[in-house]
Amino acid sequence: MISKKMMQLGKKRSAIRETFEYSKIREQQIGKENVFDFSIGNPSVPAPDCITQTLIDLLKNSNPVELHGYTSAQGDLASRKAVADFIDKTQHAYLDPNYIYLTVGASAALSATFHAISVPDDEIILFAPYFAEYSVFIDSAGAKLVSCPSHSDTLLPDFDALEKLITAHTKAVVVNSPNNPTGVVYPSKTIQQLADILVRKEKEFDSQIFIVSDEPYRELVYDNTVVPYIPAYYTDTIVCYSFSKIWSLPGERIGYVALTPNMRSIDDIYAAICGAGRYLGYICAPSMYQKLMPLCMGATSDIKVYEQNRNILYDALTQYGFSCVHPDGAFYLFVKSPESDANIFCQKAKEFELLLVASDSFGYPGFVRISYCKTTQQILNSLPAFEKLAKSYNLK
Ligand code: PLP
Repeated sequence: MISKKMMQLGKKRSAIRETFEYSKIREQQIGKENVFDFSIGNPSVPAPDCITQTLIDLLKNSNPVELHGYTSAQGDLASRKAVADFIDKTQHAYLDPNYIYLTVGASAALSATFHAISVPDDEIILFAPYFAEYSVFIDSAGAKLVSCPSHSDTLLPDFDALEKLITAHTKAVVVNSPNNPTGVVYPSKTIQQLADILVRKEKEFDSQIFIVSDEPYRELVYDNTVVPYIPAYYTDTIVCYSFSKIWSLPGERIGYVALTPNMRSIDDIYAAICGAGRYLGYICAPSMYQKLMPLCMGATSDIKVYEQNRNILYDALTQYGFSCVHPDGAFYLFVKSPESDANIFCQKAKEFELLLVASDSFGYPGFVRISYCKTTQQILNSLPAFEKLAKSYNLK
């Protein structure tokens, strides 16, 4: 007898992975250049030079036993200090390295956080549309996912709905800005409004309600957009960060959890994060990549490529008649499906070899996500197919 639940989870791929696997088959059939795969958020630009050079240097010049050895369960102190120093430099905010926990990417940061803060019957609120894997992480922590709608014109949270959804069981509200799947960045006013609501609700229910700020796209913003630093607005914030996207290293798995200083019961919460890391088998994030932190913090891959891709795709698609909120960050366009069932629209797009992801699994049906982390040439090559798709719906 094995776990049916795990077996089913393993057998059922996410809509993104399903489309990504289909793209591999289709590429073999008709050639890579003829398939326009916009499914997965795999960075398309190389890691910054600092990363490559430092890795070479570490491999050549450090003691290999130390380089590849276990670090402290919560990560090397020097690496945690590097995170705190960087936040000090860029956000002018204090972080204590003793309340930072290095993880295997944001996925582990989120899983450990949900495990650490939840007891059965706790509720975790997500603003739909949301990153689909949250549902798996929340379920595994024994908590309940509560979906709060966003306004369809701005894709910003509907705070009237939020007010009604917060109960005595609410343990956290997840904020993901810049957002996957919409590319929207929450402005300062939105974060302030959210903080005000939560402070009021904490008092009303005599509870602690966390903002879990999931920030894999923190630095991926365009046109000088400013991403508000949420701990500056709300003390009960737990930041879950990832280097996957900004360092173009998603396969190497490195990120962190950081607790906001002055958070109530911070010692217990940090102990619970460490305990959850242990419980889940996540202790000691990849040690070579931890060692990059003091040496390469602040290095970024060339995000101008994404900005250029966004501009080309957004301008072309809206010109062809598609409608889409203008995204200020991440590398996704969230486009309204011309028919009510976005899955049918995705099937139609496949006829033009355009592989898009229906928004149903993001908890917000009726849209598709287009992941534009491709080469700019691939984006340009896909435009005639998008134009034909638009014409097939008489969008103009
Ligand atoms: N959160 C969001 C919003 C994401 O888009 C992703 C990955 O695409 C993750 C978390 C997981 O990131 P990581 O690769 O660091 O586990």
